[in-house]
Parts: sequence; C-alpha cells; structure tokens
Amino acid sequence: MRVLIAAPTRRDAEVTIDLLQRAGVHSLALERDGESMKQQLRTAVGAVLLADASLDGRRMDALLAGLAGQPAWSDVPVVFLTRDRERSPSAARMVAAVTNLTLLDLPVSTASMVSAVRAALRARRRQYEIRDQLITQLEAEQALRDADRRKDEFLATLAHELRNPLAPIRTGLQALAHLPAGEEADAARLRQMMERQLRILVKLIDDLLEVSRISTGKVRLERERVDMRGVVEAALESSGPALDAGSHELHVYLPEAPVWVLGDGARLSQVVSNLLTNAAKYTPRGGSIRVVLTAHGSDAVVRVSDSGAGIPPEMLDRVFELFAQVDRTLDRAQGGLGIGLSLVRKLMTLHGGSVTAESPGVGRGSTFTVRLPAIEARLAKSAAALATSDNERGIRRLRMLVVDDNTDAADALVMLLETAGHEMRTAYSGTAALQIAREFRPDVVLCDIGLPCIDGYTVAARLRSDPLFGATVRVAVSGWGTEEVKRRARNAGFDFHLVKPVEFESVNRILERL
Ligand code: ADP
Repeated sequence: MRVLIAAPTRRDAEVTIDLLQRAGVHSLALERDGESMKQQLRTAVGAVLLADASLDGRRMDALLAGLAGQPAWSDVPVVFLTRDRERSPSAARMVAAVTNLTLLDLPVSTASMVSAVRAALRARRRQYEIRDQLITQLEAEQALRDADRRKDEFLATLAHELRNPLAPIRTGLQALAHLPAGEEADAARLRQMMERQLRILVKLIDDLLEVSRISTGKVRLERERVDMRGVVEAALESSGPALDAGSHELHVYLPEAPVWVLGDGARLSQVVSNLLTNAAKYTPRGGSIRVVLTAHGSDAVVRVSDSGAGIPPEMLDRVFELFAQVDRTLDRAQGGLGIGLSLVRKLMTLHGGSVTAESPGVGRGSTFTVRLPAIEARLAKSAAALATSDNERGIRRLRMLVVDDNTDAADALVMLLETAGHEMRTAYSGTAALQIAREFRPDVVLCDIGLPCIDGYTVAARLRSDPLFGATVRVAVSGWGTEEVKRRARNAGFDFHLVKPVEFESVNRILERL
C-alpha cells in the first residue's frame, strides 16, 4: 500500500518520499491532473499526505472529488499538515469534506509525521481486511442461495418425477377394479404397464439412495482385475432399452486386446451405462451415438459421444454437480433428477480416475470421457521398479501364498506379484490355505480376513501355532483399516496388515523389511 504525497514543490516531495522510505513506508507523488489523480486514488492507496501549501484550488477540488468517489467500504485516511488550523482555508475545506482526517501542526517532527502515517496505514489495512471478509461472506451467502435454489428446484422436479409413474399406476389399479371378469389379456397388459412404471419409480429411489450412500462414504468398491471391454459390453446391455427407444445409430469400438484395470466392474459399467443412457436421452430420435474404448498411455479411456442436444460451455463442468440440469423444462419430459452425472463423477473419483465433458455447443452433440489407470502400465512399472531394486538392493525371490475367496481378487494379486518374480500359489478358502501351506512352505502368506468356514484370523492363529511355519510371515489383507480390525489381526497372529485394494508398493515395503 502506497502513501500519496502532495508537497508544495517537487523537491519537497522527493525529500518526504525519501524520509518515509527510510521508515519503511513506500510513497509516491500525487498526480497533478484531476483524471490521473482519481485513477491513483482507485488503486491500492494506503493514505494521502499533504500540506497547506501543496494544493491550489483546482487540485483541491480534484482531490476531494476523488475521495468522494470511493466505494462504500473505503475511507482513505488523509494526513494534513497545516501552519494554522484555525485560519487556513484548505484546512477548513478538509475538515468539512474528509471523514478520516488527521491534522498535524507545522512545523512537525519527522517522528510525529511518520507515526501519523503509520497509524493511517494500519487503519487502512483494517479497512481492506474488512472488505475481504465482506467479500468472502457475500460469496458464501451467494453459494448458499444457489444451493438452496437448486434444492428447491430439485424438490419440485422430484415431486414431478415421482408423480409421473404414480398416475398411470393409480389409473391402472382403478381400471383393474372395473375390468369385467374374463378380460385376461387386458388385465395382463395393465399389469405389465404398472410394473414398468413401478420399475421407473424404484430406479429413481435407488439413485437417490445411492447418492446419499456415496456422499456419506458408505460405498465400498469391490475391486478386482476387470477387462474394460466387458464393462462396456455390460453397459451397452443395460442401456439397450434407452438406446433402442431413440432409434439411434450405435457405433461401438473395442480393441482386440483386453484393457485391464483394477476396479469394481459393476460400478464401472454403471458409470458407462449412465453416460450411454444420457446420450440416448439428450439426442433427438435417429441420432448417432459412439462408444470408443482405448488404452491410452497408462490409462484406460472410454469415450461416449452423441450427436444430440450439446451442452453450453458454462455448464460443461457444472453438469457433474448434484441436481444440476442444463434445461429443466426439456428434462422434465426425460425423467431425470440431475443425479446420474454426479454419481458418475463420485464413482470415478473413488476409482482414482476422472470424467470430463466436452461439447462444441448447444445442438452440436457432446462427448463424455472417462479415464482410469490401466493395470498393464502398473505391472510394467512395478516390474521395472523391481528390476532396478533387485539389482540395487538385492530383493529375494519369495514363495508367497495368496488366500482370498474372491478368486478374481486373488488372481489379480498373484499376477501382480508374479511379474516381480516371486513364486506364487493361491488358495480360495481357509481350509485350502492350510493344506497348500503344508506342502508349499510359503515365506509369506497374504490372507483375506472374511473367508467362509474358517476365517483369516483362524488361519493366522493356526499358522502361528505350527512350528513348521516358524519363519512364515503372515500378512492380513482386508477391506477395513480401522484400529480395531488391525488390533484383532495382530492378536490373531498377523504380522502385518494391508487394506484392499493391495498396492504393489505396500507389499514391496513389507518385503523390504523382511
Ligand atoms: P439427469 O439426466 O437425470 O438430468 P444427469 O446428472 O445424468 O441427470 O445429467 C445432468 C444434466 O446434464 C442433464 O440434465 C442434461 O442437461 C445434461 N446432460 C447429460 N448428458 C448429456 C448429453 N449426452 N448431452 C447433452 N446434455 C447432457
């Protein structure tokens, strides 16, 4: 913040600037002409310092006009040096017009002048702080108002969307009650219609519950090694009815080779299916929809494009907000609540991936892109990392047993560790684990806790009590990382605890410590 100085002569101004500079205060001379002066007063001004003899009538007018034009929050402090405060006409004008004024009598000591200027700057700094607080408060209020408006709009939409299927169900019930006996075909048609409407209702309510489960962190991904081609195929199947209803032309491009990711297959196909259903919904009949799956760099990428309604640029990111819809009036006919894309984004974030929207503009189609880390790249990286760490740190090849009743999860982990050169075996139950361990004599057992018949705790306890496995390291692998679970695992006989999904790095960290 600078102090603007008006001195009787240029030389006086230079002396004062120098003086203040030595006291650590940055200052500069007040411009001479009215416009430039006003401009100066609008930028970060800390205070104005001037003396009786420094302003003629015109400059005084310009200065007072500039001060009068301040925004409501601002009250620039003015320090005015006067020879005779009773008789000076400038002092009288200052007193009349300036609210934040400090009068100093000349001659004044340097110390008093500097201290008056510093006090003015402190007061000014406080004004800026209050302004910033006001801005933050206004922004928060605006955000609250926006959220409140979205909630109101959402409730209106919700009521409308719930009533939509309810009306035909009620009519159907009445029709059934009045149907003459023997009209079986009509009755069956009515029942089918009501079931269809009921399914729409259930889907709406499921979506609502899902949002609240995800928002409160209650959704747990069942991660395993999945081929994204299967994910896209499952999504195409579940969005089939929506795609057919719009008679859209559908183009699907899947690569020849699998695109492996570590993820929850059902959730991922829910993501793609949501995008496909939207593409079908927001594209006029007979449009074209394209789904492309690629392995791009170290990512698996799914692109869903349509030739439909498009999205205005300012909405491209906002469509992922809960309850956000581009056009509610249009959407009412489509039966949506503005939940789908917010679910998609949350699920992708849970997967360590992302989703983005692009559109050349309204009426010109949209493209949604989903990305998540592919496994192949992870493996390649892990293997490379191990090759170097092998040479540098001489990590031993180990015999390891993976125990998990989720066969895909077990196989994925085995695959991961095999690339690192370890000798691997799997067991899909606790009993099998104990049997295999007897002949395989593993160095390390990675054991899931929730197993049928005998659970992971029992497996660990049996291994601990058997001298045959005196040197075997027992690692618990579970979906939970709470202190309680870790404590139980330790008590049962586990040496280490890993939370699913197991990262290659975390296994390696344990191996390094052995
Ligand atoms: P819903 O479809 O239930 O309204 P979503 O969260 O799935 O909720 O989508 C939010 C909004 O994003 C939609 O209301 C629509 O305005 C816009 N949108 C989504 N997908 C598309 C698309 N493929 N083309 C144009 N607009 C879309």
